[in-house]
Amino acid sequence: MHKLAAGNWKMNGTPSALAEVAALLAAHPAPGCQMLLCPPATLLAQMAWAARGTPLLLGAQDCHAKASGAHTGDISAMMLEEAGASHVIVGHSERRSDHAETDAAVNAKAAAAARAGLIAIVCIGETEAERNAGATLDVIGRQLDGSLPEGATAANIVVAYEPVWAIGTGRTPTLAEIAEVHGFIRTRLSGQIGAEAAGVRLLYGGSVKPSNAAEIFALPHVDGALVGGASLKAADFGAIVAALSAA
Ligand code: PEP
Repeated sequence: MHKLAAGNWKMNGTPSALAEVAALLAAHPAPGCQMLLCPPATLLAQMAWAARGTPLLLGAQDCHAKASGAHTGDISAMMLEEAGASHVIVGHSERRSDHAETDAAVNAKAAAAARAGLIAIVCIGETEAERNAGATLDVIGRQLDGSLPEGATAANIVVAYEPVWAIGTGRTPTLAEIAEVHGFIRTRLSGQIGAEAAGVRLLYGGSVKPSNAAEIFALPHVDGALVGGASLKAADFGAIVAALSAA
């Protein structure tokens, strides 16, 4: 299984940010370790051009569930693939909250991604209130059941566990809590897709930075990270890629 360090630039980055990509290309992931950036859609084609012939993979942050049509402002998975993406994030908590995306909508987007030949990074995670109520595993199980499309395989799906309260806050769950949820996800996936589950990459996301990456990557069933803020700086994301390569 290839481990994966994925960076989500969110709504950040103009063409001047391509300098960060040039700097990032000095980071060489170890064999068996992949490095992915998901810039805003406006930068995707330019970044794909800058990254040609390098180990850097490109992805998008969302896609529409349909292939084409009257959907003003939306972008289809096929369009993203043609712009140079190999991956697309679906169901990020900011999409779920800003755009009221349901598990069914996320499921349809992940299925569209697979049809277009993209790998869908399906995001799931509990809110702080849900964790405090002891409902974390119930929420994770429900989101997994609802968001994973028919025909999900280790080749077309990555699952990112991102506690909503840890995103962009500098706070993270304890290592034991991350390990508990990742173990639970692996078991739940086995129930859904059988033996294929062993090969699905499970990413942790939520305030990953150079100082905590190594201890998180050492946990069982953590196959990489989805990184927001720290992916905007080549030095920080490069250090996270190096920690993953060494894990
Ligand atoms: C994210 O948005 O996916 C994320 C993990 O953000 P951050 O690393 O900034 O917490």
